[in-house]
Amino acid sequence: MTARAAFHSALDAARDWHAALPAMAAFTDWPDDLRYAARAPVSRPVLPLMERDPGHASPQSARLQAALLAAAPHAEWRLTYTEEEVGRDFLNRFAWFELAGPDGHFVTDQCRITVAYWGRNLFYARHWHEPEELYTVVSGSGIFMVDNQPDLILGPGDTRLHLSNQPHALRTQNDPILVLVIWRGAGLADDPRMVPEDAS
Ligand code: ZN
Repeated sequence: MTARAAFHSALDAARDWHAALPAMAAFTDWPDDLRYAARAPVSRPVLPLMERDPGHASPQSARLQAALLAAAPHAEWRLTYTEEEVGRDFLNRFAWFELAGPDGHFVTDQCRITVAYWGRNLFYARHWHEPEELYTVVSGSGIFMVDNQPDLILGPGDTRLHLSNQPHALRTQNDPILVLVIWRGAGLADDPRMVPEDAS
């Protein structure tokens, strides 16, 4: 499959996922200005791990999981953080790419849709960003943490909302996790930033 075909297939599956998940459909409309942008692939150490251990999907998420895995070798994977911030093990077993957004494989100014993966037993410390965010779990599971709210263990089809500038964190245990994340509001092209006191 060509990169272009793989990304169109992933986008179709993500659009259907958005339509089928009430929390996601309510969060933002599906963008109507998407245009494909050829972007050079950037590989990361996590890729073989993700292909080998993508986490369990649900019947509803299996198609999206498969489409994202098919697009993965063509994606411009990013790490955002430095080894000083998160450690080498984290950078070896995590990465994300922008399916749609200001700098995505599809360009839109209306929202940002990213795909991220973490291997087992990783801790993504408290971080924040201006846009509001909805996590949707495609496969695997993780513990989602927000200040002053109970931790939630989420699996395929579950969602979690993060407000503008609200610190949040994620921990994986005996499952990896593959997520589709959507941002809305100001600052779509920004990167998340670690809360300084949590960065060891
Ligand atoms: Zn976030």
